[in-house]
Amino acid sequence: MKILFSHSKPRKYQDEFIKDVWDAVSSGKHLLAHAPTGIGKTAAVLGPALTWALENDGTVFFLTPKISQHQIAVNELQRIVKKYKVKFRAADIVGRRYACVDPGLEGLDTDEFYEVCSKRRKNESCPYYAWARGFTSSQRREAKLHVKKLLERYGTVRPSYEVIEECKSFEYGGEKKPLCAYEVMTQIAKDSQVIIADYYHLLSPSIRESFLIKIGKHLQDSVVIIDEAHNVPNRVRSHLSVSITHLLVRKAEKELKVVGAKHLDRYVRRLSRDLNEILSKKLENKRETLLSKSDLASLDEDVIDEFHDVGISYLEATNRNKSACVKLAKFFSLWSEDMDSYIRLAKKWKSGTGVTVSYKNLDPSLATQDLIDSSHSVIAMSGTLVPLEMYRDLLGFPHDITLEKVYKSPFPKSNRLNLIYTGVTTRYSRRSEEEFRRIGAVISRVLPEIPGNVAVFFPSYDILHNVRKFIKTDRQVLVQRESSRPEETNEIISLFKKMNDEGALLLAVSGGSLAEGVDYPGRELVGVIIVGIPLNEYDLETKALIDYYEYKFGAGWTYGYLYPAMARAVQAAGRLIRNEDDVGVALFMDERYKWKNYRKVFPPDLDIMVTERPEYAVNQFFSRTS
Ligand code: SF4
Repeated sequence: MKILFSHSKPRKYQDEFIKDVWDAVSSGKHLLAHAPTGIGKTAAVLGPALTWALENDGTVFFLTPKISQHQIAVNELQRIVKKYKVKFRAADIVGRRYACVDPGLEGLDTDEFYEVCSKRRKNESCPYYAWARGFTSSQRREAKLHVKKLLERYGTVRPSYEVIEECKSFEYGGEKKPLCAYEVMTQIAKDSQVIIADYYHLLSPSIRESFLIKIGKHLQDSVVIIDEAHNVPNRVRSHLSVSITHLLVRKAEKELKVVGAKHLDRYVRRLSRDLNEILSKKLENKRETLLSKSDLASLDEDVIDEFHDVGISYLEATNRNKSACVKLAKFFSLWSEDMDSYIRLAKKWKSGTGVTVSYKNLDPSLATQDLIDSSHSVIAMSGTLVPLEMYRDLLGFPHDITLEKVYKSPFPKSNRLNLIYTGVTTRYSRRSEEEFRRIGAVISRVLPEIPGNVAVFFPSYDILHNVRKFIKTDRQVLVQRESSRPEETNEIISLFKKMNDEGALLLAVSGGSLAEGVDYPGRELVGVIIVGIPLNEYDLETKALIDYYEYKFGAGWTYGYLYPAMARAVQAAGRLIRNEDDVGVALFMDERYKWKNYRKVFPPDLDIMVTERPEYAVNQFFSRTS
């Protein structure tokens, strides 16, 4: 079998990955792949999956957590077309919110946007939908001509932003007729063999069903590729969870006044009383508590619908981007359900003046299991997907037809030094000024030995600030703030990268936006220090997860607490080597990194040395490599 592959020859270990993908897709099995940076994941999966789809009249879905990651797949497909002149079509799809061409809806929050868009389609008032898809039969006929005209220039694959721009400026018969880009993209998808999309198109059960019907595809004929799959358990859990707060209830009260829906006042007042009661009685002496369904008075379905409609009217009347009533409606439609895999939780605000009540999902397989069971083959891959068995169990991959593979890093081992320093710990029982001073002293001794940018990742902001005062350095220090906005985060990243000549010091938290999803190639980062184990707070949600995973898999402590923390540490250290020529050092500082149970989460081919003198080992390493 000649498998489509865009490059002249496979990279180190990439050939093994390609063969495994082909074996899985051609036999209807699944593959969980820990595929380190540099192995060429996208080319390794798309080639074999597309080869299978073209031969079997199937479809390949390539799912990513972020829109920015679509481009890598688009580029790979363009290279395949250039090399093989093979005929197929691919659609790059982003959610309606990003594809919407109506300038009036820009900036709306997600829930609110979808409510407004859905209402406009229901009451047939969106002209862009009419021009792209059509409400009436004559509109549908005309819309077909529009899409046909747009497709004349489409070729094999176009990135979504190009399609959106063309839809915005579309003209027909000398008249400007902007087309709903989402409706155009889904029509392109109907005739496509590859569909690049965001996670939720298939990972959310409610979106999946309507999306597949819309594009006329069936999972049993599809290979589903999930990129950056280490994100999936948490993303899915948070997607399936809902919450309300005192603040939200106060906002809902105002919305009712604006819209003149006084008859709903009594429900909001009753909800406010329930929340006050939870705050004053159930949370009198504690920060959080579990609730039962009856702690909040239930709402009938028609009342929930009324809140929903009031929220939409409020958005339309005020041009605001959020509606508390829409969020209340969503919350209550889930709260009334009874599911073993959910907990009802109340948390007191730090200020003590309010409460957040949540209905939290514990089991991501509620959304993923059915997708996996219905698909011909699912390939879940990531640069950090160990231990594979945890992802297999949490997502619901069947043991008997799932291949689990850990591929080696193709980069020279000699370019990266991995150290464990066991002389300190951030264990709760040992946290003290003295321990923080010791951690600060080790970091201060190591810093002068690293010729370039260094990032130190802490398990929490609290520990970051406690240790910070003991770090002695001449470097410019950049510190991540707990409540920083995305623009501030981007500013810190670009400032840090620019200072790579003089060598700056970045202090941030593991699991945060500076530790995951950001690339610091080449000289932008030559040293990473991971302080402590970034364990989640041992709160009621964590305890519930541990209990639930113990009951379901007999692995509560590891799946619910330990492994996710270690995965965050490994992710943060993974920022270091992004290219073949990158050189750097990763130092893990905590006695627990030496313990067997913890070390299991390190990629097996990662050589790690335990040292009592990290500054000496780092000095030797850079003397050798520079
Ligand atoms: S139908 Fe399309 S253009 Fe109309 S509101 Fe929804 S996303 Fe926007």
